[in-house]
Amino acid sequence: MNTTFKEAMKQKLLDMKEQILQQLVSESDEFQEIVDDMEPKDLADIAADDIDRRILEVLGSQEIKRLQLIDSALARIENGHYGICMSCGKKIPEERLKAIPYAILCIDCKSSEERRNR
Ligand SMILES: [Zn+2]
Repeated sequence: MNTTFKEAMKQKLLDMKEQILQQLVSESDEFQEIVDDMEPKDLADIAADDIDRRILEVLGSQEIKRLQLIDSALARIENGHYGICMSCGKKIPEERLKAIPYAILCIDCKSSEERRNR
């Protein structure tokens, strides 16, 4: 995977993260307070884990879950594991990553996981 693609995905992930956080801020005064408390330079600097502890009971867990996925994808970009399936170790096609930048499973593993959860 080339660096340009990874950089593009990183930017996309940071944008997604900021969007979610902005949405949360606009929906919840309590969340706004938490953000003010943290004094981040940038909304995207906030780690999902930090929010998790403080706000999970206030907000739905859906967005937090997505933030965590985005965070772990960002971590995987940093440690060089981005784009590799967590389950089988195969490369995740770039097309899939473009559609879902925080995908951590290839399509095969994702669909067998969904079958298991059904
Ligand atoms: Zn896989």
